[in-house]
Amino acid sequence: MAYLDHAATTQLLPEALAAVTAELGYVGNASSLHAAGRRARRVVEESRERLAQSFGARPSEVVFTSGGTEADNLAVKGLYWARNAAGSDRAESADGAAGGRCRPRIIASPIEHHAVLDPLAWLAEHEGAEILWLPVDRLGRVDPADVEAALADDPDSVAFVTVMWANNEVGTVQRVSEIAAAGRVHGVPVHSDAVQAAGQLAVDFTASGLDAMTLSGHKIGGPVGVGALVLGRGVELTPVLHGGGQERDVRSGTLDTASIAGFAAAAEVVTRGRAERSADVAALRDALVTAVQRAVPDAHLNGDPNPAGRLPGNAHFSFPGCEGDSLLLLLDARGIECSTGSACSSGVAQPSHVLLAMGADADMARGSLRFSLGHTST
Ligand code: PLP
Repeated sequence: MAYLDHAATTQLLPEALAAVTAELGYVGNASSLHAAGRRARRVVEESRERLAQSFGARPSEVVFTSGGTEADNLAVKGLYWARNAAGSDRAESADGAAGGRCRPRIIASPIEHHAVLDPLAWLAEHEGAEILWLPVDRLGRVDPADVEAALADDPDSVAFVTVMWANNEVGTVQRVSEIAAAGRVHGVPVHSDAVQAAGQLAVDFTASGLDAMTLSGHKIGGPVGVGALVLGRGVELTPVLHGGGQERDVRSGTLDTASIAGFAAAAEVVTRGRAERSADVAALRDALVTAVQRAVPDAHLNGDPNPAGRLPGNAHFSFPGCEGDSLLLLLDARGIECSTGSACSSGVAQPSHVLLAMGADADMARGSLRFSLGHTST
């Protein structure tokens, strides 16, 4: 079998497996005060430090969640609610807009993962949010100047900006530091979903200037069901989950010590050997692209053809006149596992919102396949 779907999920690294299995043998709730609880707390806090170190954050900025989807929902809803809450700086000083919302606008890219898009749609439907969609070019790039222009119009009405670090379908990498800088100039927080970028690119939260950043364990060789929202100190966020007050009172719920230990172990491994491994994976990816284009001359490579603007493990093609789902099943029968895009929307025969936003026509979008390589690719 050739597993070419690392962007959907990648194999657990041996170091992560060892950390999870070692931890599963212990009892102890990290919030308990007795020795078993303190031992679990120590594992959580050491993991938090290792994770923060891997992604250029302070330990206190790491909020553990159940994965990327939860971290994205927490960022989107939490920032919106906090920036519109009674008692927020603007609400105190301004009269407030219609419906009591004083910052109804959210600036977002149209190529976000559904874990961002769907909470945005929910806020628009239920909470009166107005989404300002940023343009993307035919390679899937957001121009930071467009973020600046959208902000300059009326920055006081904007709750936050969200633009992903790298796209999960076509692999296009965004200029997140410049986007974060635009937000900073106008005092508007900026969130980025770095689920696909982490482990493949140099992801440094502090250097990026972001206010919030999403990570997921299973995309970097850690376990499924654990992730984090990296949240800058002083960034206000309203919780989505209420309960025991864990994680700075931002995300209640008993901490999953074993998964957190596995996530931290994976983060350390992927960041330590990142540059070398990414170069190896990119070389394999380039060989795959060349071979596909030789075999199928009318195959069109989507996303940025320049390696600097694309995730090293990503190759994404449209095959004119073909149905992506049919090709996927034919390839699967020949032992090649790939994807029509985001695993979450596979099975639903709809053209990808990412390709449509990049200007592809619906037929080309339906005839597309993503091949994604990772640490076990040869
Ligand atoms: N964001 C992006 C860019 C993703 O690719 C994914 C997973 O496909 C997610 C968020 C969701 O992460 P999780 O599977 O941990 O919920």
